[in-house]
Amino acid sequence: MTPSTQASRAGRLAARLSARPWVTQGIKIILLLSLITVGAWRVYLYAERIEIGDMRDSAQHRLDIYESAVTSAIARYDYLTGLLNLNPDVIALLRHPNDPVLIDKVNRYLAAVNADARTNTLYVMDLQGTTLAASNWSTPISFVGANFSFRPYFIDAMKNGHGTFYGLGTTSKQAGYFYAERIYADGKPIGVATAKIDLDKVEQVWKQSTETVMVADANGVVFLTSFPGWKFKALHPLTPQAREEIAATRQYNAPGALELIGLHQVERLSQNASIVALPQHSRFAASASNPFRPEYLLVSRPVSGTDWHIMILSNVTSARVAARNAAFDTALGLAFVSIAVLYVLQRRRIISQRLAMEETLQRLNDELERKVARRTEALSRSNNSLRSEITRHKQTEATLKATLEELVQAGKMAALGQMSAGVTHELNQPLAALRTLSDNALMFLERGRTGETQDNLRMISELIERMGKITAQLKRFARKSPPDMRAVSVDTAISNALFLIEPRLRKESVTLDYAKPPVASYVLADANRLEQVLVNLFANALDAMAHSEHRQLSVIVQTDAERSTITVRDTGDGLSEAAQAHLFEPFFTTKAQGAGLGLGLAISAGILREFGGSLRGTNWDGGAEFIVTLRTAAQNNALETE
Ligand code: ADP
Repeated sequence: MTPSTQASRAGRLAARLSARPWVTQGIKIILLLSLITVGAWRVYLYAERIEIGDMRDSAQHRLDIYESAVTSAIARYDYLTGLLNLNPDVIALLRHPNDPVLIDKVNRYLAAVNADARTNTLYVMDLQGTTLAASNWSTPISFVGANFSFRPYFIDAMKNGHGTFYGLGTTSKQAGYFYAERIYADGKPIGVATAKIDLDKVEQVWKQSTETVMVADANGVVFLTSFPGWKFKALHPLTPQAREEIAATRQYNAPGALELIGLHQVERLSQNASIVALPQHSRFAASASNPFRPEYLLVSRPVSGTDWHIMILSNVTSARVAARNAAFDTALGLAFVSIAVLYVLQRRRIISQRLAMEETLQRLNDELERKVARRTEALSRSNNSLRSEITRHKQTEATLKATLEELVQAGKMAALGQMSAGVTHELNQPLAALRTLSDNALMFLERGRTGETQDNLRMISELIERMGKITAQLKRFARKSPPDMRAVSVDTAISNALFLIEPRLRKESVTLDYAKPPVASYVLADANRLEQVLVNLFANALDAMAHSEHRQLSVIVQTDAERSTITVRDTGDGLSEAAQAHLFEPFFTTKAQGAGLGLGLAISAGILREFGGSLRGTNWDGGAEFIVTLRTAAQNNALETE
């Protein structure tokens, strides 16, 4: 793995670690919100139950007080009717109902007791229900003479000894509680004494309270209430029988009586407690500022000693507000705790992620370092082996160079060897001529012919000079010298090489076609070795033309600013296919044993490569041609070698 892929892996890891948690974070937030909502809702329900439970307890407690107020209000007077039974005038009146003196006496007595006891009315009826005397005898609504035999309290009293009843007065039209008791004389019933008691005061006290208190009879008709609008209204629909009874007893003989209040039960909490909603038209109904229909807690209990029920109606809004506040506080608390928990979790996650990332990075780093160390070790090993390789290579190169030098020298020697026949001939001819000339000079000297002697000596001197020139050239060619790169005159190099092979040209009747270039051109080379290359190319050309009828050696020079070429063209057999394939391979030769070593072209190509040039061999229409390419040199530092 490369360091870059490791780095990208670390990057991907970091990206993955930092990107993915946002998804789970979102889920966590949704879960927490749901938890808060559910928690707050449960707290609301719980708090509402507690609050309403408290309300119910306190309502029940107050109900006890209200109920005792009612029972004490009605029980306070039950002695009165018994009192009347003890009055001899009352007994006498019931025995003599038409006695005006008795009537007046009892009327006054009843009025006095009534005023003293603060009851509404006290009256005495005969066994037919007709009132004989009444405390209100002197008022316009006097009961005297009125018959109440239809009233339940009279019927019950006649039947059971006493009767109670709450209802509107048929004469006075004032509501009240009636308590009736039979009057006996000599163990026989002779009439009924009745006390009508006002419960207005109880009601008045209730009206001061903020809650609605009411008392309903056995039929569910409200007859005592702190809310006047509900007076004589029914809590639930009445049976036809009940309606008939009420009509017969004229219990609630008032306009609008027995209409339904329209309380709607929302939830039943227990046998005597429930949540109710009020009718829209009631004073409790929803207002424009509070569009929600308020609900009330209705708690009831029976009024002891009666078949009535006393009830309290309390607004539950405050309980609900308290529950809502508790729920809100809980939600806030939960939200705060959740945020704190989330924050802590987030911190922990970030820290653990950072630690994990650091650990991974550390691991990758260690891995990387180990790899780098291994690579470095391998590299330094291969570096060392490369260094020793280079050393070996340099040694080999040096050996090769030395070998090449040797080869070049060997090549030169080979060329010289090939030229030796011609050279020997070149030297033998003047040697023979020298002999003849010197013999003749001696003869002319003996004969005193000094003129001829002088001529001969001059010719001898010229011949020696020419022989010296040849040997000097050969000596220079054969010299073993390290390469010396300079600007070399192309024409000089060609001329020197041609001089060396000139004897062969002449002997083998080869036409030379070489025109000295009009502009002197110079190439970068070692003069001695360039001549060696050219001698080699010329010698090969002469060899190739050995059997040709027309023998012509052409040397063409071309120069530009960069490169210069010397083309050596012959009219020989041309390069065979095998020769073209292996031309520059050492020891490739097609010449007869001893005639060639097969090193000439290989050495020539090596020399030219060292000069930064090249050698190419190819065929033209009339034979073969070799093209020497070299770098053109400036004329400065030119080495002119003659
Ligand atoms: P050698 O001359 O000793 O054979 P060279 O390396 O100089 O070695 O030449 C290799 C061979 O290339 C020759 O044997 C010959 O077959 C071929 N050759 C070289 N020059 C010419 C040429 N001018 N014409 C035809 N063949 C040639």
